[in-house]
Amino acid sequence: MKEMLGTIVAAHGRHYLADVDGRMLQCVTRGKKTNVAVGDIVHLKRTSDDQAVIEKIDERKTLLYRSDQYKSKLLAANVTRLFIVVATEPGFTDDLVSRALVACEAAGVEAHLILNKTDVEAQLPRARERVKVYADLGYPVHEVSAKRHPEQTVATLAPLLEGQSSILIGQSGMGKSSLVNLLVPEADAAVREISEALDAGKHTTTFTRLYKLPGGGALIDSPGFQEFGLYHLTEGMLERAFVEFGPHLGGCKFYNCRHLAEPHCSILQAVEDGKIARMRHDLYKQLVHESSQTLY
Ligand code: GDP
Repeated sequence: MKEMLGTIVAAHGRHYLADVDGRMLQCVTRGKKTNVAVGDIVHLKRTSDDQAVIEKIDERKTLLYRSDQYKSKLLAANVTRLFIVVATEPGFTDDLVSRALVACEAAGVEAHLILNKTDVEAQLPRARERVKVYADLGYPVHEVSAKRHPEQTVATLAPLLEGQSSILIGQSGMGKSSLVNLLVPEADAAVREISEALDAGKHTTTFTRLYKLPGGGALIDSPGFQEFGLYHLTEGMLERAFVEFGPHLGGCKFYNCRHLAEPHCSILQAVEDGKIARMRHDLYKQLVHESSQTLY
């Protein structure tokens, strides 16, 4: 039978859903492989009217990993832009923001921040101050209010999604679902359709899914997603993923300096001088520690 090309639009355990020319096909991998991610372009062989087997995955442009606790470690493939949603309230954690930025740098994905709920004026100055740390590193920050100014929000964000394969991530409560619903008006219906096709009516809603956008491009939503898998990153990769380290590298006394507690380290000096944010360096140390704890 002739092979077909599809895009994986949803994943749940070993069950996948592929979009083949606008038609949804349930797919499985051969054997027990779970190496398929939402966003993957796959070669399929049809086994029945609405089912197929994944024969081959096209080479990925990018790949993002989730942390270990899930059955599949893959978050999404071929993402070109990642948007981290933060808000004026409730407070967001810098840990997730910086981990997302590290994941993006390592994967070659462009990272943006969305500051939502700008209508909560009392908290706005503090939130702006906090996101400025990231703006100063060169990451674009887009201010929106999904609830108070929905049209303006779409006008700000829709052009950034055009022709891209984007993913939205954020801690719960930041307004990510509100944004997805604005950007993909048919999202609720699509989730129902995907849920039925994927899960035979069990109504699972916590799966990663990809929506095709009317203006071209795709938007991936991963509800319940909490943590990136960064264990596969070597110390060299971590060093490069903290973009602000760049201008200071090469000045350390030891060529193999790990920038943890070594004498005459130019990165530690830059932290002391206030040129590198201490919270970013603290996370670097934490990630070096985590990567050294992992034996693969
Ligand atoms: P999620 O958990 O990130 O998906 O967040 P939701 O979209 O469910 O939103 C969490 C809460 O924030 C809900 O009560 C929303 O109505 C509210 N919310 C979302 N966007 C805004 C906004 O721009 N301004 C204000 N004030 N509230 C918002």
